[in-house]
Amino acid sequence: MMAPGNTGRRGWFYPVLFPWCTAPVGALIVVRTMEPKLIDPFNRTIEYVRLSVTDRCDLRCLYCLPAGYRDFSEPESWLSFDEIERVIRAFTELGVRRVRLTGGEPLTRRHLSELAARLHALPQLEDLSLSTNAVQLKKHARALYQSGVKRLNVSLDSLRPGRFSAITRGGKLDKVLDGLAAARRAGMHPIKINMVVMKDVNDDEIEDMVHFCIEQDFTLRLIETMPMGDTGRAASNHYVSLDDVRRRLAERFEMVPAVVPGGGPARYVSVAGTNLRIGFITPISQHFCAGCNRVRLSADGALYLCLGQEDRMELRPLLRQGIGDEELKDTIRTAIVRKPEKHDFREQPRKIIRFMSLTGG
Ligand code: SAM
Repeated sequence: MMAPGNTGRRGWFYPVLFPWCTAPVGALIVVRTMEPKLIDPFNRTIEYVRLSVTDRCDLRCLYCLPAGYRDFSEPESWLSFDEIERVIRAFTELGVRRVRLTGGEPLTRRHLSELAARLHALPQLEDLSLSTNAVQLKKHARALYQSGVKRLNVSLDSLRPGRFSAITRGGKLDKVLDGLAAARRAGMHPIKINMVVMKDVNDDEIEDMVHFCIEQDFTLRLIETMPMGDTGRAASNHYVSLDDVRRRLAERFEMVPAVVPGGGPARYVSVAGTNLRIGFITPISQHFCAGCNRVRLSADGALYLCLGQEDRMELRPLLRQGIGDEELKDTIRTAIVRKPEKHDFREQPRKIIRFMSLTGG
């Protein structure tokens, strides 16, 4: 096993003694080109960065932000596109292959497709995706697709306009549906719907959402509420174990276990006779930390090693003090050594005071 936080190196050469030679001949041959890797102390390879481009959001989902919340950070505190590109380039040179743009609501950051194009152009980056509430997606979908955003996750907790508006505190369902249609027209695929399941709020709508996703050829991901910030903790009063939901769905649909490439923390099933896949994201009932492959960069440049812990490495001051590229990579390696084994949402539900929108969900 490599030392914690160590990285592999490109082009390792091994001296090899050919036994059939009369005289010992040392030959240097390339055994194989090893890709650099970021490996944490628990032997997990970190190859995915969730990049929050703003903490602002145009919705106030009841499990995420308080009603009327406006206490956002100022744009001057956000990393500039140049700074983001530098950090993500460093990550890709250390082995990261996937980046997801998130927030807050990433579409509220101006010129997002310009940033997407710059990240997409990084030679080692293989996958660029977006998490959005889709409220403003209609006008941005085409440009984003052309800038390299091919995969999309959309938060959608209800298909009933009144209920959608209540959960999001004022959101318009029509806009989200228009955004989804525009994303499909642009060519984005797969499109995944993220539904946070809440007892007595929307848990009676899961079957409707299944039918909607079958009709629209979307993937459905059901999510348990997490106790992040006061809002997340309040929503946890509506916590539903997805094990129960799975049993309930099994009475209506024939479900078979499925493997979804890049599926992340979700455990997937396919619904027989359809193209639908349903992912269950169960941070509370069955955490998935042993397979965690990601870190999160907040809009103001804090590198969070775990969604459910407060520890972070502040990169912005270093970037603004003129840190060099190699030093930046060393700093990232050092941070990875601090990645904790797991969150403790269950054991310490009061621990995380920041809202999900700050870290980037
Ligand atoms: N605005 C974008 C969106 O709506 O997808 C990206 C950011 S949003 C914070 C990312 C995801 O976090 C959404 O799917 C949202 O439902 C989820 N989320 C936020 N707070 C949560 C909580 N307390 N528990 C579970 N999921 C939460």
